[in-house]
Amino acid sequence: MLLNRFVAAVFFVLFAVVGTATHVQALDAINVPLDGTTLDLTKAVERASRDPSDRVQVSTAPGPDGIVRRIEVRSNEAGGTSYWVSFALTNNGDEQIDRLLVAPHFRLANSGLLIPDLGASRIATVTPSQGFAPERQASQEADVFRVTLDPGAVVTFVAELRTPVLPQLYLWEPDNYKDAINSYTLYHGIVLGISGLLALFLTIVFVVKGTAMFPATAGLAWSVLIYLAIDFGFWNKVIQIAPGDDKMWRAFAEVLLSATLLIFTYTYLNLNRWHARYSHATIAWLVGLLILLGVAVFEPGIAAGVARFSFGLTVTLGFVVIIYLALHHYDRAIMLIPTWVLLMVWILGAYLTVTGNLTNDVIQPALNGGLVLIVLLIGFTVMQHAFAGGTIAPGAIGETERRALALTGAGDIVWDWDVSRDRIYTGPDAEDLLGLKHGTLEGPARDWLDVLHPSDRDRFKATLDAVIEQRRGRIAQDFRLRAEDGHYRWFHLRARPVLGTDGEVTRCVGTLSDVTEERTAEERLLHDAVHDNLTGLPNRELFVDRLASAVTRTQTEGAARPSVFILDIDGFKQVNDGFGLSVGDSILLTIARRLTRLLKPQDTLARISGDQFAFLLISESEPERIAGFADSVRRTLRAPISFGDKEIFLTASIGIAMHDSKQSEALEIIKDAEIGMYYAKRLGGDRIEAFRPALRQHGADTLTLEADLRRAIGREEIKVLYQPIVRLEDRTIAGFEALVRWDHPQHGRIPPAEFIPLAERNGLIIPLGLFVLERAAKQLSDWQEQLGRDVPLFVSVNVSSRQLLRHDLINDVKSVLSRSAVTRGSLKLELTESLVMENPEYAAQVLTRIRELGAGLSLDDFGTGYSSLSYLQRFPFETLKIDQSFVRGPSAKQKRVILRAIIGLAHELEMDVVAEGAETEDDALDLYDLGCEFAQGFLFGQPMTAPEAGKLIFREEEAMIA
Ligand code: C2E
Ligand code: MG
Ligand code: MG
Repeated sequence: MLLNRFVAAVFFVLFAVVGTATHVQALDAINVPLDGTTLDLTKAVERASRDPSDRVQVSTAPGPDGIVRRIEVRSNEAGGTSYWVSFALTNNGDEQIDRLLVAPHFRLANSGLLIPDLGASRIATVTPSQGFAPERQASQEADVFRVTLDPGAVVTFVAELRTPVLPQLYLWEPDNYKDAINSYTLYHGIVLGISGLLALFLTIVFVVKGTAMFPATAGLAWSVLIYLAIDFGFWNKVIQIAPGDDKMWRAFAEVLLSATLLIFTYTYLNLNRWHARYSHATIAWLVGLLILLGVAVFEPGIAAGVARFSFGLTVTLGFVVIIYLALHHYDRAIMLIPTWVLLMVWILGAYLTVTGNLTNDVIQPALNGGLVLIVLLIGFTVMQHAFAGGTIAPGAIGETERRALALTGAGDIVWDWDVSRDRIYTGPDAEDLLGLKHGTLEGPARDWLDVLHPSDRDRFKATLDAVIEQRRGRIAQDFRLRAEDGHYRWFHLRARPVLGTDGEVTRCVGTLSDVTEERTAEERLLHDAVHDNLTGLPNRELFVDRLASAVTRTQTEGAARPSVFILDIDGFKQVNDGFGLSVGDSILLTIARRLTRLLKPQDTLARISGDQFAFLLISESEPERIAGFADSVRRTLRAPISFGDKEIFLTASIGIAMHDSKQSEALEIIKDAEIGMYYAKRLGGDRIEAFRPALRQHGADTLTLEADLRRAIGREEIKVLYQPIVRLEDRTIAGFEALVRWDHPQHGRIPPAEFIPLAERNGLIIPLGLFVLERAAKQLSDWQEQLGRDVPLFVSVNVSSRQLLRHDLINDVKSVLSRSAVTRGSLKLELTESLVMENPEYAAQVLTRIRELGAGLSLDDFGTGYSSLSYLQRFPFETLKIDQSFVRGPSAKQKRVILRAIIGLAHELEMDVVAEGAETEDDALDLYDLGCEFAQGFLFGQPMTAPEAGKLIFREEEAMIA
């Protein structure tokens, strides 16, 4: 019955308003038919010209007499408005006609998207050209005036507007209007009812289920309800609002709708789980909407506009996210798709409506109904999750259940021993793990002894007995059980006794867990702690320990005296640097394997650090036999190691120390052997050196020097001296070679030949080299500044092999060059040919790059190495430095031939030549005769400090000027 009326009402609206409303021409009087048809006057009204004063003049429609009159109407509104419209109606019948002039306050259609028209009272007064003024009827949603037309009358009406626009003006037959309002009221009631019930229901579900999804959905439902209540004019029944003044509330409702939809989308899709970025964006967005609520108080239009935009954006972005998540098989997203499609259709409809593309009178109620439908669908979707999802509702489980679940979750096996009946229960899990027949582990406790590892049996029995006797305590025990295949698995049992009413233990209950993996990992860790993980040999700790016990046995039992070999591979760093670490590792493995073969069972071989191995020799104690063993070690190592198509030759420095009554500690013996080894190294490697007390001084020196060097760089103990390089033709200064010195606080000045090899060994050469490079560059830049950049002056800096092999050399040079303003090519790097030949391909690359950066390159000490100039020309050197051995000394005459050849060839290759070691005037003259352009040597100056060198440059400069 109710539904019938509702359907009838909707149809009525369709026909009455859309079907039969007739559009009429302006200010021709419109004939008002007797049959009660509704007239749409919206397009028939004519705007009266605006008058700056508070009155307007209008020409009336011609009456039956054909006379057009002019009437003047005064504004009734305080302050006076300037918006006026006029229209004329005529009654051609012979009865008096009563009609209602209706101008609704709010219309969604054509309300606009960005700053929408949220409704207002439209008409202030209506003044007729004749007869009584139309009387205003009470209404919340529209301005309604009762118009009476006498038979044959032509009446012109002038309406004073309150807003610039008049969205709609209808002329209704009063009974029809009442019916229409009534049927709308019914429709509104139904829609509101459904929406209200939904909101309430979702709220209740939230109280029961407590999942965030429900308040979010309930919030959405409530804001839909509020929106509808305002739109249907129910809100002013709750809150006192002047008719047509609900703009702010509408804006509120729209913002609320937009915000709750956002919250719902976010919560339902659990977006916080995917990425914190989603949360931040959503929170920012929500804060924006919250601010919008405040804006709605002052500027409802703007607030509503932003809210509409935000709503649209939520739907669109939501769609993208849903599709994305659905493609990743996220159930919730998949289930939301139908709802969202409906929402998209709705949004499209709403968009067409507010922009004025859809203007019929059913669209607004239809959209309202659609909104309820969407919330209903969302409600269903959410409900499905609530009731289908979790097996156990949160908060509804008891402590016992929780514990049981936790046990299942942890994957532990229940172990239950019924003491009074002597039956153990473990369930099938443990038996499955061991591959045993079901039931094997179930039965009297004594049955367990058969499967237990023999050495665990007694402990197991004793523990169970103790618990029963003492009636308290806990069982926490590891034991092994034999699997079907004969292997043992480790289990950890944790249980506690349960006492009966008589105080006796009735059962022991607890859990059993498989800890085999942890156990093996532990064993492996123990092994790793004392073994080298590359070769598997004992490491230093284990070696020291074994040596210590050997020493003890010698001292207490008079066992054979142990001797220790420390073996260090010569030049192993080059292998690592040149071939890569993995090649280095496999070579170490090969060496370890070879050395192991030399061992007797009593002996120990250990890898004590990177390329150092140590022997603990117990099987031999005769000095000759020990020496023999050492020699076999050396020979074993010298055999080439083939690697791919290459063969690598390695040698070792070996130090030997024997236990004697003086050193009582293992560590001391090792230290002695190390000293021997270092001594062998010093003597060039590939040697065996037995420790002698005299060596101790040597070793100590090197060790402390190393430590001192570390500190020296920071402490300005390292100095850079400059040795002049002169042009032989006029003896002017062409440049300097930077040479490093170490002023040691105790040992005095140490020459580079002593500490550079040390620094190369321990890597300190890198900071040291960079220090010299930076100092020299800075100095050169200062000099050039003072001299003027057009006066040529260079400084050359020595580079060692570790520096060249490191990739950072290029970067170091680059940063030094960028920080000091030296002219291009004037800062030179000196490299020896042997250094370049160590790794020619790599060196060629690095050197080319360095040349490109703007540094010069000198080939140092030429003549002492390969001396293959034809080969070396592949490298971008522009200067060649002839080693001092060709220049200086008595046999220099014979060397003239060689010198001439070198100089000639260098010039062929367009290199400058610097002769080193020019000590006498003769040397200089000879060199000049041979065509050498530059020389360096004590004749022209010792290495000197920067100020001294500066003096030399500027003295010369002054002399030139004079
Ligand atoms: P080098 O590059 O061949 O340097 C020339 C060496 O010959 C210097 O020795 C210099 O004092 C010496 N010398 C110069 N003129 C004469 C002479 O007329 N007669 C004699 N007998 N010797 C002369 P110094 O300063 O002891 O340097 C030795 C080596 O140490 C240098 O040989 C160079 O290879 C290295 N070196 C020096 N400073 C550095 C540095 O900063 N870094 C690196 N990596 N190596 C450096
Ligand atoms: Mg040099
Ligand atoms: Mg040199």
